[in-house]
Amino acid sequence: MLSLGIESTAHTIGIGIADGRGKILADKRAIFKPPEGWGIKPADAANHHKLHADSIVKNALAEAEIEMGEIDIISVAAGPGMPPCLSVGMNIAKSVSREYKKPLIGVNHCLAHIEIAKLLAKAKDPIVVFVSGANTQIIGYMEGRYRILGETQDIGLGNALDKFGRSAGIGFPAGPKIEELAKNGKYMELPYTVKGMDLSFSGLITHASRLLEKKQKLEDVSFSLQETAFAMVTEVAERAMAHAEKDELVVTGGVAANRRLCEMLDIMCRERGGKFFACPRKYSGDNGVMIAWLGLLAHKAGNKGIQEINSRWRVDEVDAGWV
Ligand code: AMP
Ligand code: MG
Repeated sequence: MLSLGIESTAHTIGIGIADGRGKILADKRAIFKPPEGWGIKPADAANHHKLHADSIVKNALAEAEIEMGEIDIISVAAGPGMPPCLSVGMNIAKSVSREYKKPLIGVNHCLAHIEIAKLLAKAKDPIVVFVSGANTQIIGYMEGRYRILGETQDIGLGNALDKFGRSAGIGFPAGPKIEELAKNGKYMELPYTVKGMDLSFSGLITHASRLLEKKQKLEDVSFSLQETAFAMVTEVAERAMAHAEKDELVVTGGVAANRRLCEMLDIMCRERGGKFFACPRKYSGDNGVMIAWLGLLAHKAGNKGIQEINSRWRVDEVDAGWV
C-alpha cells in the first residue's frame, strides 16, 4: 500500500511517499525562509507553498518512479499549524483525492513527528521529547492516546532560540548558530523556569537578550541559554519517564538536531538505566514522509482522520488505535 503525504503546517511544504512497511520512496521539500530579522508571516509562507506545490508533487512522484494513480491513500497534515499554510496542503489533498478517487486522511502533524521517530529510531514505547519551532511537549502513550505530560506555557523551544537569534542578529534559523557559538562559551546563571511539568522560555529569552545589550559575550550567552533551556527539558523528560514507568526516550522536532540537547538527554537516560534515541536528523524536521507514514498507520487501524484543517489540534484528542 502506498501513501502520499503532504506537509505544509509552517515553513516547509513537503511531499513524501511511503509504503505500508515503512519504506521511504520519495521525500521532496521546499522551505520558506523569512527575510533577515523577521519571523514567519503565515500569508507569505502559504504563498511560498502554493508556488512550489506542483513541482514538488511532480518531483516526488518521479523520485518514487510511480504515477499518481498508483497511490492508495492521500495523507495530509491537517493541524496544528498556521491556518493559511494548512489550507494549502488540505486543498492539494482534496483535489488529488477527488480526481483519483483515493481516501483522504487528515492526520495530526505532531503525531506524525512521533511515529516517524519511533519507526526510524526503532523505539517501542518511549517518552517523546518533541521540540520544534512552535512546539515543545513531553508526550507518552497511555491507554489509547498519546498524553501530553508536560509542555511549554509560552513559546516553543525552537522559536525561543530563533527569537534570541533575532536580537543577536544571527539570522534564521538561529538554533544551529547558537549551537556553534556555545562551543566557545562560559556559563552564567539565567532564569530556569519549570512549573510542575510545564516549561516557560520567554523570560529566559528576554533575560538572555538583555545580557547582550549589556555587552556580555554572545558565545557565553549562547552557551548559558542552551545549558539552561535544555536542562529544563531534561528535568521534565526525566520525571515523565519515572511517572509513566517507561525506559525509552525519543527526541524529535527541529531542535533534536542539537548535539548538546541529545547529550544531556542521553546522560539522563543512562543514569536511570533507560535508552535514549534520536530521530535521524533528516526526518526530525518537518517533512511529507512522516505524514505519509502516519496516514498508513491510521488507515490500517480504520481511523479516517479529519477532512478539514484544525489549527489547534492536540495529540491527546486523537484515538491512537494503531499503537
Ligand atoms: P521544526 O519546526 O521542527 O522544523 O524545527 C525548526 C526549529 O529547529 C528552528 O526553530 C531552529 O532554530 C531549530 N533548530 C534547528 N537546528 C537546530 C540546532 N542544531 N540546535 C537548536 N535548534 C535547532
Ligand atoms: Mg514540525
